[in-house]
Amino acid sequence: MNSSSQYTSINRALIVGGTHGDEMSGVVLAKHWLKDPSELHRKTFTTKAVIGNPLAVERCTRYIDMDLNRSFAQENLSASESESDPYEVKRAREIYQNHVKKEPVDFICDLHNTTSNMGATILLCKAGDPFSLHMANYLRKNCLDYALPSYVYLIDTKEGENIYLQNIARHSLALELGPQPQGVIRADILSRMRNLVNCCLDFIDLFNQGTEFPCFELEMYKVASKVDYPRDADGEIEGIIHKELQDKDYLPLKPGDPTFQTLKGTELFYDGKEEIYPTFINEAAYYEKKVAFIAMQKIHQVVPALKVQG
Ligand SMILES: [Zn+2]
Repeated sequence: MNSSSQYTSINRALIVGGTHGDEMSGVVLAKHWLKDPSELHRKTFTTKAVIGNPLAVERCTRYIDMDLNRSFAQENLSASESESDPYEVKRAREIYQNHVKKEPVDFICDLHNTTSNMGATILLCKAGDPFSLHMANYLRKNCLDYALPSYVYLIDTKEGENIYLQNIARHSLALELGPQPQGVIRADILSRMRNLVNCCLDFIDLFNQGTEFPCFELEMYKVASKVDYPRDADGEIEGIIHKELQDKDYLPLKPGDPTFQTLKGTELFYDGKEEIYPTFINEAAYYEKKVAFIAMQKIHQVVPALKVQG
């Protein structure tokens, strides 16, 4: 592919921590940057830090009424105010109105932790944005030590169906770092996230200054399906994640490999026909979503060269 993608320069960036109130790396960093934003300063654009879900942060819980990171559907953002709206729908609207509506934000970095063993996961909500794909590539090449596994995770949302915070910016990515328990701050993960955010800003600065990023091929993991725990007739979990599958995020799961073990001593095996790559294995926040792990497909995408317009 010879054509290059051109976008206008980035003028405004938003770093959002505490989209989930108990994912502490982003909460601590956003609070720090709200008090002292000097670290976020770059010559060619402005950056603001925001706490996504302040009430959930205060209570150190994921959310109050519903998941904020599923509340950014266009119909929520454009609907008129209603007292009966869930807190997170009101908050999504508020974030949109305060930070996007008057003057569009060009880039959002959304900070998350997972309890799963997912290393440094760079999570994108749309496949067709070469800017974010180049940024993901830049982070993987320049900002992570070689010992740490890093992955690009794609939720390929359809046009008009994006319900994530990433919906409200021209370009975006989420950092999903783990494993870290909910409500806990690990120094290694905190410094990794801090480094990655700074690298996102460095990338934007280079882009704004006219750096051309050449065409490349990117390996990504794309969401294929969600897998629930085995349940009994009452809907209670009957089998837990198998000890052989625990912590094996992004490693291939082949037909016949163990997936769950029951308290009665039975083992269950993956009965799909094709190899998959499980992620969010045993994620604490996904028990209520009835998700034991998310099955991914490995894909490769050729990303055209990138240069600022004009
Ligand atoms: Zn999260």
